[in-house]
Amino acid sequence: MSIKDNLSAIHTSLPENVSLVAVSKFHPIEALQEAYDAGQRIFGESREQELETKAKSLPHDIRWHFIGHLQSNKVKYIAPYISLIHSVDNEKLLKEINKQAEKCGRVIDCLLQIHVAQEETKFGFTPDEFKQYLSEGKHTELRNVRIRGVMGMASNTDDTSRIHSDFKTIRELFFYAKSTAFATDDYFDTLSMGMSGDYEIAIGEGSNMVRIGTAIFGQREY
Ligand SMILES: *Cc1c(COP(=O)(O)O)cnc(C)c1O
Repeated sequence: MSIKDNLSAIHTSLPENVSLVAVSKFHPIEALQEAYDAGQRIFGESREQELETKAKSLPHDIRWHFIGHLQSNKVKYIAPYISLIHSVDNEKLLKEINKQAEKCGRVIDCLLQIHVAQEETKFGFTPDEFKQYLSEGKHTELRNVRIRGVMGMASNTDDTSRIHSDFKTIRELFFYAKSTAFATDDYFDTLSMGMSGDYEIAIGEGSNMVRIGTAIFGQREY
């Protein structure tokens, strides 16, 4: 199947309220162009340098999402044009994004990344850290970031009940935040969960943004 066929198959299976981030990390410009020509406009990348190279050579109406672990010292490179950062995994990073956004005269949309998966290596706020951070209210002082919602990954396992329960935990934190810290903020509306292997489960658990790479572009070469 071509990239175009993959995209249209995925679109057919997505409910209307779910947006699709085409995760194009490690794939060549030509592959992204093919997805673009098929109508895809949101692309997700995980490395600042790679993103910059791609952004320069592809059409300007693409909305670039950052989905990988972001180091504070790299924020300045993506701040001028990034459309949404999914992977804000600590307070210091959020402050740095705010600072760089201010320098660019922008407000940058962000998601707070929640860590629930079993793997040690995954980044993010634990459920307790997330609640604690929001209850302190310090995010309200950051004028140049807008927290749009949360992002999370399920454990990498064949145990679908575990995947369901990971997504459920993330969804509950999303609604917790929506009814407390963001109760009067209509823009807090994004629940980013689900990748190639588990996006159907994620949608069943309430996701409204899926991040799909392999099922669109095929296997990545590292
Ligand atoms: C790579 C990546 C994806 C896409 O994974 P696939 O399994 O290829 O769909 C989604 N989200 C994040 C955070 C990623 O790093």
